[in-house]
Amino acid sequence: MPYSIAIHGGAGTIHKSQMSDEKEAAYKSALRNALIQGEEALKKGLSALDAVEIAVMALEDSHLFNAGKGAVFTHEGKHEMDASIMEGKSLMGGAVASVYGIKNPIHLSRKVMENSGHVFLAGNGAMEFAKEQGFKLEPDEYFYDELRYQQWQEALKEGVIQLDHSPLKENKFGTVGAVALDIHGNLAAATSTGGMTNKRFGRVGDSPMLGAGTYANNKTCAVSCTGSGEFFIRAVVAYDVSCLMEYKGYSLADASKEVVQNRLLKIGGDGGLIAVDFRGNICLEFNTDGMYRASINSDGNEQVLIYRD
Ligand code: ASP
Repeated sequence: MPYSIAIHGGAGTIHKSQMSDEKEAAYKSALRNALIQGEEALKKGLSALDAVEIAVMALEDSHLFNAGKGAVFTHEGKHEMDASIMEGKSLMGGAVASVYGIKNPIHLSRKVMENSGHVFLAGNGAMEFAKEQGFKLEPDEYFYDELRYQQWQEALKEGVIQLDHSPLKENKFGTVGAVALDIHGNLAAATSTGGMTNKRFGRVGDSPMLGAGTYANNKTCAVSCTGSGEFFIRAVVAYDVSCLMEYKGYSLADASKEVVQNRLLKIGGDGGLIAVDFRGNICLEFNTDGMYRASINSDGNEQVLIYRD
């Protein structure tokens, strides 16, 4: 049976002119490292769920992306992270929102799926559950990144809540995600984020919401999103792609295009998604200038891309 895996590290205003060769190489190498770790898992016969968790953990461990290490600053100067994971075979899912000190929020969301009896835990309750599950808390310094700090200072000054990759600042990083089809024919999706710089009021975006930022269903596809979360929630983006396939017979490519280039744009949402269908087709669709993205399948077709090219 064939396998496929795709990952993203955020979409946004990413121009070649703003990027040095070294930085570009660093992003590509971090993306490729996560992709290959996920692929190795699939090659060994592990599940799509394992593969997306492994790939997202690798991206969380890189300070280059807005998830885990390198997560953006909230208004209060903290790091509050959201993540979710979903399995297409069982339609089981797990999610956490507004957690702090957790090195790999995606791992915690998998524990929520498997051990909590619930789907979505937030804030203090999620932290209590993490402690029960034996998670250790990292100090604030672990998450610190100088660029993120500067972004926060600028957002504070301007009094705005800013997407990590919005044009206001060096708009390079983002939410991370992975989607995969394993050799057993099962799909899975995972997404992890620090959310938006300077966010307040317990703001939660689309990333931990099954159906909005993350969705997987063996009948159709697995999807992970990145972009202006409020719009992705209102457009129920990930589930809408699956619905167009299931109810209207769209191909993965047509469904992704319809949602990202038409429905989402109509309400003002910018960003993109990665998706893989039950046949192993891969789609990397975005309506921004760029999206950190990579994919590989069992035919050996590999791509690691940043700009619209
Ligand atoms: N979608 C994320 C959020 O709104 C942000 C991102 O994709 O970078 O929290």
